Amino acid sequence: MLFAPTIAGSLPKPGWLAETEKLWPKWLHEGEALERAKRDAALVWIKEQEDAGIATVSDGEQFRRHFVHGFLETVEGIDWQLMTRMGIRNNRYEADVPTVTGRLRRPKPVHRDEAAFCRTHTQRKLKWTLPGPMTICDTLADGHYGRRADMAMAFAEILNEEARELEAVGVDVIQFDEPAFNVFMDEVNEWGVTALERAAQGLNCETAVHICYGYGIEANIKWKETLGSEWRQYEAIFPALNRSAIRQVSLECANSRVPISLIELLSDKVLLVGAIDVASTAVETPEQVAGVIAEALKHAEAERIQPCTNCGMAPLSREVAAGKLRALGAGAELARRTLA
Ligand code: ZN
Repeated sequence: MLFAPTIAGSLPKPGWLAETEKLWPKWLHEGEALERAKRDAALVWIKEQEDAGIATVSDGEQFRRHFVHGFLETVEGIDWQLMTRMGIRNNRYEADVPTVTGRLRRPKPVHRDEAAFCRTHTQRKLKWTLPGPMTICDTLADGHYGRRADMAMAFAEILNEEARELEAVGVDVIQFDEPAFNVFMDEVNEWGVTALERAAQGLNCETAVHICYGYGIEANIKWKETLGSEWRQYEAIFPALNRSAIRQVSLECANSRVPISLIELLSDKVLLVGAIDVASTAVETPEQVAGVIAEALKHAEAERIQPCTNCGMAPLSREVAAGKLRALGAGAELARRTLA
């Protein structure tokens, strides 16, 4: 299918599962009841995505509280009582983060059973998202490794174990989320891409990296105001990504000051073109989505373009997110009819 739509990852948690419209929502259940509620929520969102015409669906990250810390809860070597106040994304905002105090180890699968559950409930392609090594290292404190690159490589090995198991239960696309790539461009070229490739090593399924300007939260909106009239961060990192083994790149385009011509630097990759603005509660029209696809088409072949969301939709209301899913599907359909 041409212009096969997919989403960056997260979707809102329903009000019966967790607090709504929050980045670190509290679960409303415990134990078995919580596991049941997470699965129910994933089913709702798989159905909503299918009905909206999304070709590659995700669990909407219903199984974890937060896209980084949710994955780390299972990893050994992290002290969750030893919270360190740290500037995140080069001091864009401060957060209390857990501290790495020993050698990192994954004692058991994190999402394997949940992915297998989702696999039995959809015939569509299934995407699973994992936090990327550099972004993980920017979301917790290091009290053990000493060098960020070394800690990133330790996480990359753990992510690779997890990714291989996700592939084995039938996940079609494994995506690593690396919003930190847009902040530490020198480090991306020094070790970030290497760590990312280590995380994806040996995978035969599709592999993707998502790089955005963040959720539509206050700190990110303020940061974007400091970036000037053209956002060219991608320019510093796309050449290395184009040379990498990662096959798909998810980027922000809708309502963004990113010059879309920068996708020319990714001439060998499948492009997950952000055509839905997650920082606005206004639901796009299909024409607006098709308009972003038309702009991308000036710089890349149709076969390499998959319309997507700019970022995750976790902090939005359920109604708005569902509306944006339908706009994405309808916009892709409109583009197939008018542009192909
Ligand atoms: Zn994002």
